[in-house]
Amino acid sequence: MPDRQDIVELTSVTSSPAPSVPSGATPGSTSDRTFLRLWFACSSQYARAYKSDDGTAYTGRCPTCHKCIRFQIGEGGTSQRSFTVSCR
Ligand SMILES: [Zn+2]
Repeated sequence: MPDRQDIVELTSVTSSPAPSVPSGATPGSTSDRTFLRLWFACSSQYARAYKSDDGTAYTGRCPTCHKCIRFQIGEGGTSQRSFTVSCR
């Protein structure tokens, strides 16, 4: 049985202005749980992808089909904060 990989289609959001994230504005570690904004095209809903505990990825879940979406964090990544995801 082959390992079925989730396919995530990432399309760059061109029409929405990127929110500028204030850098270093909040000293104190209470609000370091950052998240990405995901637009699920399959359900036409927004959801959040939260950073995993080890800080290597963001994981989100489709509100409709509950499919898990994983965003790997690595070098050469993007500073984009919102993504369009299609899990169909
Ligand atoms: Zn879905």
